[in-house]
Amino acid sequence: MKKKKWLGLMLVLMLLVSGGCAAQQAQGEMRILTTFYPMYVFTLNIVDGMQGVTVQNMADQSVGCLHDYQLQTRDMVALEDADVLVINGGGMEQFMDKVITLRSDLPVIDASEGIPMLETDGHEHEHEAGETEAYNAHVWLDPQLAAMQVERIGEGLAAADPSRAEAYRTAAADYAARLRALGEELAQTLAPVKGEKIITFHEAFPYFARAFGIEIAGVIEHEPGEEPSTREIAETCDLVTSLNIQALFVEPQYPQKAAESLARETGAQIYTLDPVVSGDSSKESYETLMRENARVLLEALSK
Ligand SMILES: [Zn+2]
Repeated sequence: MKKKKWLGLMLVLMLLVSGGCAAQQAQGEMRILTTFYPMYVFTLNIVDGMQGVTVQNMADQSVGCLHDYQLQTRDMVALEDADVLVINGGGMEQFMDKVITLRSDLPVIDASEGIPMLETDGHEHEHEAGETEAYNAHVWLDPQLAAMQVERIGEGLAAADPSRAEAYRTAAADYAARLRALGEELAQTLAPVKGEKIITFHEAFPYFARAFGIEIAGVIEHEPGEEPSTREIAETCDLVTSLNIQALFVEPQYPQKAAESLARETGAQIYTLDPVVSGDSSKESYETLMRENARVLLEALSK
């Protein structure tokens, strides 16, 4: 009888202790790893000012988009220490198989989950199976879709780190609202050039173009990181001439040689559109670079 009472008391105490822990839920260190620049900036905005939360970006600033990116030694070290990984998804991170092999226990937040993706243009049949990405993953260049990605990241962080769930959700909602407002602002900026045709460097801009009513007539480099073939340059050259295109858009992260020879042959001017895959690592940098893109487009297409 005495022993039973004692056991009962122990049980009550244990319940009290565990209940107390759950209510407090100590906030531990949270190390977030992101795969590349846009995911890094989005996550920075969500975790801004939170004690004990750090964000590290995997790919080097000079990499640009992750097409054909191979994991570096420093990435593997970062992966070992990470508590959660934020990826763009949609096939942008082709090294995910390797990530899963290295850290099968690591929670992964796919920022594009649930966002319908555009198929890549009709060029994939020319390549070996598996070489080309079937969907265009550059969704972050439409601010409305970027806002959805931010909310997705916020939800993912809340699930991975419940002790800060409310803070993640609130900050994600605030930043997403800012991005939606940015989208409306850019739509107004670009209203005068709606329906214009442009040629971009690689296939980074279809979501941007769709959002603002711009038409992408062609791209200079079909396989990012690979110089376009003579035939591809000749085709683009014909396109520029036949559509009377005045502006070619290069990207700061990629060489401009092909665009320069096209410009020489056609008399078109070269401008820079930034796919926001590198920057000054400031929280505002997505908004700054997107406003600059709109300004450059307006200038180039108003001529
Ligand atoms: Zn790209």
